[in-house]
Amino acid sequence: MTPSFALALHGGAGTISPALMTPEKEQAYQAALHAALRSGYAVLAGGGSALDAVEQAVLRLEDHPLFNAGRGAVFTHEGHHEMDAAIMDGRNRAAGAVAGARQVQNPIRAARLVMEQTEHVLLAWPGADELAREHGLPMQPDEYFFTQHRYDQLQEALQEGRMRLDHSQALPTDEDPKKKMGTVGAVARDQHGNLAAATSTGGMTNKRYSRIGDSPIIGSGTFADNRTCAISCTGHGEFFLRAVVAHDISCLMEYRGLSLVEACRMVVHDKLAPIGGEGGLVAVDALGNVALPFNSEGMYRASQTSQDAAPFVAIYKS
Ligand code: ASP
Repeated sequence: MTPSFALALHGGAGTISPALMTPEKEQAYQAALHAALRSGYAVLAGGGSALDAVEQAVLRLEDHPLFNAGRGAVFTHEGHHEMDAAIMDGRNRAAGAVAGARQVQNPIRAARLVMEQTEHVLLAWPGADELAREHGLPMQPDEYFFTQHRYDQLQEALQEGRMRLDHSQALPTDEDPKKKMGTVGAVARDQHGNLAAATSTGGMTNKRYSRIGDSPIIGSGTFADNRTCAISCTGHGEFFLRAVVAHDISCLMEYRGLSLVEACRMVVHDKLAPIGGEGGLVAVDALGNVALPFNSEGMYRASQTSQDAAPFVAIYKS
């Protein structure tokens, strides 16, 4: 029998409800999630590594304008794009991340370069793009990252003066129902029993320039360790940073012996929610069990395991 393998991915969490969605848009999201799941899962089914599978799934989502990563990255307050990404290998806790990249087409590939081609874990701002350029990754002009819906979101946010994360430690009480986050991420267990996690984001609309969220911070937005789990988070990054979400889940499994599902529930609902942290995550454990918890209205999510009959794709709370 083929050893079990599994892939789970997300395309962001937040205020996502059927009332705010057109059937066409919903279909487009579903199709994009299915396509990313298929391409990552094919890597695993072919005996490929968890690392390659999560990179592949995230690449697909980065190239899709609907998601807040790569091509569809949100705008900063100044009208630019600053992208963060991280990747981690559960075999040896090798990790690589970039923050504030502005030109590289696929920040997740740059993160992998940091992991495999440098002695470092995190490269930020021009140095991140520079490394990608040196290694021949595709680079793009600003126009490539322009999408009308993200631009409109910035204009609304500027008018309302909201989402100034540099001033705010709490979610505004008059939360805009259209606010949603579209960060992407994936976790996998391969046939060899190895785990990996990857996350990529444009951050949050109207963020102050040079702001870095949880996604590229190992242990907060991204984490993988073969002994416990692989995690990729999405949500209001400042809270995920303060709750050190991904590593906390791993610690609950390692030190307290909790199952993946219990550890995720404890962190997402009992720890993150009380401090105002809205969002969710995708997770896989050493046996290939998958968890997709969130405390927001919805989360674009998908998963498939070698035990499943069919892929699972969902957007809203079930
Ligand atoms: N966590 C990301 C950040 O704060 C945003 C998101 O997940 O949508 O940068």
